[in-house]
Amino acid sequence: MASEYDRREFEAALRPTRAIVDLGAISTNIRTIKASIGPTVDLMAVVKANAYGHGARFVAKTALAAGATDLGVATVDEGTILRRAAISAPILVLGPIDQSEYPSLLANNLSPTIARLDQLDNLLSALPRLDAVAPVHIKLDTGMRRYGGSHDEVMAIARRVAAHPALHLAGLSTHFAEADSEDLTRTDEQLRQFQHLVEQLGAEGIEAERCHVANSAAVFASPRYHRDMVRSGIAIYGLQPSPAIALPPPMRPAMRLVSQIARIIQLLPGDRIGYGGTHLVTAHAQAALVPVGYADGYRRGLSNQSWMSIRGVPAPVLGRISMDQTVVHLPNQFHLRPGEPVMVFGADEAPSADDLATMLDTINYEVVTGIAVRVPRVYLNGEEYVGVERLSG
Ligand SMILES: *Cc1c(COP(=O)(O)O)cnc(C)c1O
Repeated sequence: MASEYDRREFEAALRPTRAIVDLGAISTNIRTIKASIGPTVDLMAVVKANAYGHGARFVAKTALAAGATDLGVATVDEGTILRRAAISAPILVLGPIDQSEYPSLLANNLSPTIARLDQLDNLLSALPRLDAVAPVHIKLDTGMRRYGGSHDEVMAIARRVAAHPALHLAGLSTHFAEADSEDLTRTDEQLRQFQHLVEQLGAEGIEAERCHVANSAAVFASPRYHRDMVRSGIAIYGLQPSPAIALPPPMRPAMRLVSQIARIIQLLPGDRIGYGGTHLVTAHAQAALVPVGYADGYRRGLSNQSWMSIRGVPAPVLGRISMDQTVVHLPNQFHLRPGEPVMVFGADEAPSADDLATMLDTINYEVVTGIAVRVPRVYLNGEEYVGVERLSG
């Protein structure tokens, strides 16, 4: 715990509650995925939602340096942030785009995912010059019933893209609903529908530059889902797509949340802790105030059930988690003072993101994307300090 980088990061003029992101872990995860898909398959690093809470700018640059070829975001705004960070790799907006956003999409050289014919009109009317060529990815709904066009819609969109001199059919995609399931029957049925589309377009002489269907779960489920490019999100952060899918070594989680003891609290029998007094103290004990709360993404649903780790010893949460503060029971074998480091999740004896997800009846995706922007991100490469991102810039 008390290693060189811990001291340095806690000495910096920064709030002690921080997400530590190991960019070395991101690189290792990217390289391991690259090794498993092979040299002929491209890798899109999905960095939507501020890189699943890890911080999009640092993660995107690290992923590209480690071998990712493309980036995926959910919104035009998310793509714009990356362009402002001088990233020039292809960036695909995976979700639907409002009509008003096409000029900004094109100005930032972002690629849209098209699923309706009228979206092409929006794209074309936003083209800045007559000789400009806009890359287009078209998405087929093969069973997710979320974003994506029907077979006939996609055929019509693809014909129009292929025939238009200002449009380039850069990609054809679909998205799996159950690639994390042990039973891949329905995933294969989705793939079959996708393949049918590819063949029908091929019969008309229409071919996309790259086909892409796999999310992280599908990457590890089978090479038959890899096609020309995979779109991996959760795995690049070192988190499992589902409890059933283990990531191969040496992949590992990149994020941990740390804090510091802000106050030692002497507890007497009969005391009650926090809002609603939901924890009743029955014996003399010591507790510690930790300046992290549900507004940081340390969710209130963890009240009275989660724990943190102090000097490698579990420290259970006592009472309700407030917006900005939480009280934990102190391991009584130590004489501790304010300033003592606390591991909130992701390392030592603290819960993993998966453990918190289980307590909250959700998935690890929601735990890490929920870490609020007010929590500074401190970037390390292994033990080495790389940089910091915080709300005030
Ligand atoms: C978010 C997203 C992904 C990444 O999914 P993971 O399960 O995190 O790998 C891939 N494709 C699309 C279309 C997405 O929206």
